[in-house]
Amino acid sequence: MKDKNPVTTDRIFTVEEAQQVVLEAIVPFGHERMPLLSCLGRVLAEPVTPSSDIPPYDNSSVDGYAVRAADTREATSERPCLLETVEEIPAGKIPQNGVASGQAARIMTGAVMPVGADAVVMVENTHTRERTVEILKPVAPGQNVRYRGEDVRAGEPALAAGIELGPGEIGLLASFRRSFVTVTRKPTVAILSTGDEVVDIDERAEPGQIVNSNSYSLAALVRKAGATPILQGIVRDTEKDVKEAIKEALCADFVLSTGGVSVGDYDFVKQALIDLGADMRLWRVRMKPGKPLAFGVIENKPYFGLPGNPVSCMVSFLLFTRPALRKAMGYPASEWHLPMVAATLTHPIRAGGDRRHYLRARVFYRGDRFYASAATGQGSGMLSSMTGTNGLIVVETGVTAIAENSEVETLLMRPWQSGG
Ligand code: AMP
Ligand code: MG
Repeated sequence: MKDKNPVTTDRIFTVEEAQQVVLEAIVPFGHERMPLLSCLGRVLAEPVTPSSDIPPYDNSSVDGYAVRAADTREATSERPCLLETVEEIPAGKIPQNGVASGQAARIMTGAVMPVGADAVVMVENTHTRERTVEILKPVAPGQNVRYRGEDVRAGEPALAAGIELGPGEIGLLASFRRSFVTVTRKPTVAILSTGDEVVDIDERAEPGQIVNSNSYSLAALVRKAGATPILQGIVRDTEKDVKEAIKEALCADFVLSTGGVSVGDYDFVKQALIDLGADMRLWRVRMKPGKPLAFGVIENKPYFGLPGNPVSCMVSFLLFTRPALRKAMGYPASEWHLPMVAATLTHPIRAGGDRRHYLRARVFYRGDRFYASAATGQGSGMLSSMTGTNGLIVVETGVTAIAENSEVETLLMRPWQSGG
């Protein structure tokens, strides 16, 4: 072998060891300020503390009559209690009068509570007269009142750093008047596909050639992970071409290549990386699909030499690159990896046993539990197994068969379906 990196060359890492090696090399990215409407899916870079209470004043949660709860204690539909109506308070207006004992104020949802009132009777439980109102049902103090600061208090942190901004967070930030938000920077990810046999989707394929799918599946995975893909095209299997392509790709924050990391005569990626001075941390992982995996740091950029087989390349991305991107983007450690659920096998399965096996499966929830159905074609080149599936059943090294109805650990690549 030509490799000059004996420390890592011979070693085959477990998935967990390899994930640790990768994640140790990742440093969180910088921050940027973005307009609120562009923040969907971005990660909050610093905690957000509102400077005023939400809601900003005590207000009514219903249309009805603001009253003193004690005045309504005896009210029934047969013997309503009669209160004098002192004013009408629409939303957006300031009450002009207080509510004394024996009085009520007509009030609309969201309107400011008048001084003296401590509850609101729903309009459905009243009869409106000319200058009075009949109350048909008692209310307890505080009933139908939304108090100032009961949702969020001024000065108390409401959103932590590392939170992914979804519609709820964006709404809350809007209520804090944050038209700009400090989020973590989105990494750019260069993607190269190596292989003399690989042609691009709109190129003519000669006999013996295959269409580049890896660049496209990876671009989609990168985008789904919240980063920006940069397609660098197809690289021929020569040391010179591979080296030049890697150097060019270093304009991005992360570099991914596919193919050329195995032990074939035309696998030049490893040698090119070493020659370019990359600090290589691992070459192989004890898993199927995806045993070959080159990872190192070159000019401070993480480099992932993913396997060429279309499924291997996607599974390796999900297990190693996605967590690295998520760490770089500021997610907390608990959110770096794919979520795992325990699922009941719908059919017996077989596995090789010599490496940990990740079987593509459809995971669904029915009744009171998750079920997993493994896809029929599990070859590492069978890209169709990555469609219609949302999970990866984890079969440990040494296990060659698992019976129907057994419980298996399953990583979720996408949300599950109900009913199944
Ligand atoms: P390699 O790791 O370069 O030996 O490639 C392993 C397998 O993956 C071979 O069958 C390749 O033809 C296939 N392959 C490599 N690159 C791509 C690609 N960009 N798109 C689809 N298949 C690929
Ligand atoms: Mg190749």
